[in-house]
Amino acid sequence: MAKDYDRERVYQAEKGISSLDWDSLAELRAVLNQTWNHALGQMGNPPMVRTRRFATISTYRKLTNTVSLSPTDKTMLTLAHELSHAIVHNETKHMYDRENVEGHGARFRETYVIVTHVLVGPDAAIQLGTNFAGIPAAVGS
Ligand SMILES: [Zn+2]
Repeated sequence: MAKDYDRERVYQAEKGISSLDWDSLAELRAVLNQTWNHALGQMGNPPMVRTRRFATISTYRKLTNTVSLSPTDKTMLTLAHELSHAIVHNETKHMYDRENVEGHGARFRETYVIVTHVLVGPDAAIQLGTNFAGIPAAVGS
C-alpha cells in the first residue's frame, strides 16, 4: 500500500474546528441511523459504532465495518472523520485499483467535508474545506 502522505495534513486541517461533543452512544447511533441513508446517501446499514476503553485514538476497521471512538475525544468532528473512512471504503471496496482511494487522499477529504456538513454543520464544513484547499494533490492522485 502507498504511504498515507496526507494523513498529517488532514490532522493539521482539523485543528481549531469546533464541534459539539456527543453524550451517549445511543444518541450517536440514532443520529447515524437518521442520516446514513438519507443525508449521507449510503446503501445498507451504517457501521457499528463503539467506544474503546483506554484508546487514545479513534479508528475505523474495514474488516468488521466498525468505528471505534476514543473516550477522550467525543467530538462530532472525530465521528465525521472515521465515518468518512467507512463511506469511502464502502463506496470503493469493489474497485481493483485501490491505490488512490485509501488513507486520507482527495476522495477521503471530499467525503469528509460532506459528512462534516451533515453531522457538525455548515460552518465547520466550510472551514474544513478551506483548510483542505491548502493541501496539494499527492503524487499519483
Ligand atoms: Zn483517518
